[in-house]
Amino acid sequence: MPLKRSLSKTLSIYSSERFPWLSRKSSKHRHQAVVGVGGNIGDVKRRFEHLFFELHRDKRVTLTQTSLILKNPPFGFSEQEDFLNTIIVIKTSMNAKVFLEYLMRLEKKFGRKRSFANAPRTLDLDIIFFDDLVMNTDKLTLPHPAWMERESVLIPLSGLRL
Ligand code: AMP
Repeated sequence: MPLKRSLSKTLSIYSSERFPWLSRKSSKHRHQAVVGVGGNIGDVKRRFEHLFFELHRDKRVTLTQTSLILKNPPFGFSEQEDFLNTIIVIKTSMNAKVFLEYLMRLEKKFGRKRSFANAPRTLDLDIIFFDDLVMNTDKLTLPHPAWMERESVLIPLSGLRL
């Protein structure tokens, strides 16, 4: 994967064919979700590419944008590989709760196993924003509670056209 820029000792930015990417098509779906994507087990970049094609061909969603890929150290449990993170923008007609369930099924499909908090993961999908919805339920907090503190969100997000 071509290195674009090293930002610091621990942070670097990568690009690939589909990251960053901007769709030229419009979408009939009414909601816009900004989704954080991360992983640190196995060939994460390849998994991101698979996720791209999976979303691209799914009629229930329109993938409209992807960001650059940020390589960054894990937080919480540090005895694990660095993470790759990217942000994707998806249009959908699903409501936020149904969309979260959709993302959780995708995580499963891509082999995610839940073990403990901040554990290594094959694919992590978080809703950062869903339109301008603000909510706090057991299952879903919007905007995502930690988005402002995480470089893994802020740096990829900064290059998007929203
Ligand atoms: P994790 O995958 O470890 O980040 O946590 C997933 C859990 O966080 C899920 O069970 C969700 O119900 C909950 N959650 C709360 N708010 C969000 C959000 N904005 N995006 C994704 N998951 C969320």
